[in-house]
Amino acid sequence: MKRLGVLGWPVAHSRSPAMHNAALAALGLDGWHYQRLPVPPELFAETTRALGAAGFLGANVTIPHKEAALALADEPSDTARAIGAANTLTFRSDGTISAENTDAPGLIAAINRAWGEREEPADAKQGGDVAVSPVRGRSALVLGAGGSARAAVWALIDAGASEVLVWNRTPQRAAELARDLGARAVDARRSADILVNCTSVGLQRSATGEQDSLQQLGLSHDQVGEYSHVVDLVYTDAPTPLLAAALSAGLSTLSGVDILVAQGALSLEAWTGRKAPLEVMRQAVLR
Ligand code: NAP
Repeated sequence: MKRLGVLGWPVAHSRSPAMHNAALAALGLDGWHYQRLPVPPELFAETTRALGAAGFLGANVTIPHKEAALALADEPSDTARAIGAANTLTFRSDGTISAENTDAPGLIAAINRAWGEREEPADAKQGGDVAVSPVRGRSALVLGAGGSARAAVWALIDAGASEVLVWNRTPQRAAELARDLGARAVDARRSADILVNCTSVGLQRSATGEQDSLQQLGLSHDQVGEYSHVVDLVYTDAPTPLLAAALSAGLSTLSGVDILVAQGALSLEAWTGRKAPLEVMRQAVLR
């Protein structure tokens, strides 16, 4: 049995096991299994170091362990180091642990798949169109300053955004994140091309509805229409209040489900060396 899993505390809500087991089955990898690994913070390092010997090839890492995962890795990738967090660990046969962050490239991959553009190459002799990320040359406002906001800010800057602004309920955290990663903190919402929600607002259905959720993000319904592209990392079966407002304004939207699938696909490809079946994974998350 080749074992994979997701380390978190709590982790009961995670849809990663359903998503990855559906992908492993679709790839015909019968001897593989992906499971929840509920581990409290005080046991994280000790438990994780023992996983390789227990037959685990890899693990995803979620709240609250992403920084600790980076810290314990023998070989953290440059991306994980720059972001300051890892969400994918690989347990090597020599006992060492490598760490990657697929949240950042996953976000950009999902954006490119949803809104990708093609243009003529600068050198016409090359022929054919070249893919251009819709992030390149566009401005972005990131809401939130937690772990997922760090990955999103790094990813947007790396993908060539013209400017990345960061707003957070606790402004000091936005200032720290912006200073660390070379973005600009703002203390009130600003207009931009792309809006990315990296807060947990929208995870719980608010009793007072959409308006209340948007207010927590410093936004009114009409202000959502000032963006052309809206991304919500929160994954729920129905559109979140932010995405519902964006859809009603006719904007281009991207849901947390697609981003979950994109980061999971990159982890799965790293562990198995196989191309991830994206649609199978998406259906498993929604089921
Ligand atoms: P985190 O590190 O705990 O950060 C939470 C952020 O949400 C902080 O900026 C916090 O602001 C803000 N926040 C919480 N409650 C708020 C409220 N009532 N009003 C305004 N802001 C509020 O969490 P995270 O890891 O960044 O994750 C954030 C969300 O993204 C979660 O829902 C998570 O499930 C989702 N996520 C999705 C994916 C995916 O693949 N789709 C990947 C990662 C995360 P303060 O600093 O003021 O507390």
